[in-house]
Amino acid sequence: MAYAFEKLPQLVDKRGKLPRKGSYSKRTKKITDRVWHHSLTLSHLGGSDAESFADYHVSLGWPGVGYHFVIEPKNKVYTPKGKRARIVYANDINLRTYHVGDSNQFSLGICVAGDYRTEKLDDATKATIDELQEALVRDGIGQRDKSHQEMPGYSWKACCVFDYQKVFAFLNGEIISNTSPKTYVIQEGDTFWGLANNIDGITVNDLIVANPGVDPKKLKVGQKINLGKAKNAYTPKKDKPKKAQETYKYPLPSGVLSEGNKGENVKKLQRALNAIYFKCGTADGIFGSKTKDALSRFQMVYLPYEVDGVYGPNTRKKLQAVLKSKGF
Ligand SMILES: [Zn+2]
Repeated sequence: MAYAFEKLPQLVDKRGKLPRKGSYSKRTKKITDRVWHHSLTLSHLGGSDAESFADYHVSLGWPGVGYHFVIEPKNKVYTPKGKRARIVYANDINLRTYHVGDSNQFSLGICVAGDYRTEKLDDATKATIDELQEALVRDGIGQRDKSHQEMPGYSWKACCVFDYQKVFAFLNGEIISNTSPKTYVIQEGDTFWGLANNIDGITVNDLIVANPGVDPKKLKVGQKINLGKAKNAYTPKKDKPKKAQETYKYPLPSGVLSEGNKGENVKKLQRALNAIYFKCGTADGIFGSKTKDALSRFQMVYLPYEVDGVYGPNTRKKLQAVLKSKGF
């Protein structure tokens, strides 16, 4: 089965076809970090592409180019969705390439050609970064994004400089920070607190409830942790009566709403989605394809196991929580 990232129209597969001298070995750890770099070479110059980086890295004595993906702003691709910067798939994601020292074993290297200390990303490049990141999240490749300088031992490095989190929100105003895998295998140094911190919408209490029989104080390397059922597993005891919906800025309707429905309740849903930047256009009270699309995108981020574009009790609960977290 092909990965979603392999289907991006702006991607060219140059695995094995770039200058090299030998080969990288396979990684022995799962990819947890998607690490973003820039090349420090001005993006329009001849040397600002995967081919030249490969030449340079081989001259350093490396087996080949150190990144898995190179985004080339100077090479534009015209896709059905608009102009994009080309992505070169340079090394198989399962190879342990050189780009973050001790962290290579579990890191994916993505380099955006250019020097963003002085240059600005153009829209075609932002769109490509956004789409590649989103595809990798969908594919379950890695659990979090980091810039080179956020990796252990590299705080001195001016890489990748641009605000990558902001770029991930370029196309839709949304950031997909995680799709939680169904299970996770405990690695050295893991804690429930650390896991909960890295997975959107899962709390330590959720993990405890979803994993009866696992002692959070005695996690063992190799132990399997259930994540798929962890979301909302823990229901806090309610001692206060719920606030009436109409006192909220974006009151949410109860019941089920789906494509084809019309009326005031649909309007409420549309206003709420728009408020948290899952844009569905004007709140016209008609549940059409735009509303379904916005709702599905919301579910992909917050309820990845219930993506059906239908508004029901679970979606309502999550939407309420997200509105609250945004200060509404
Ligand atoms: Zn770097």
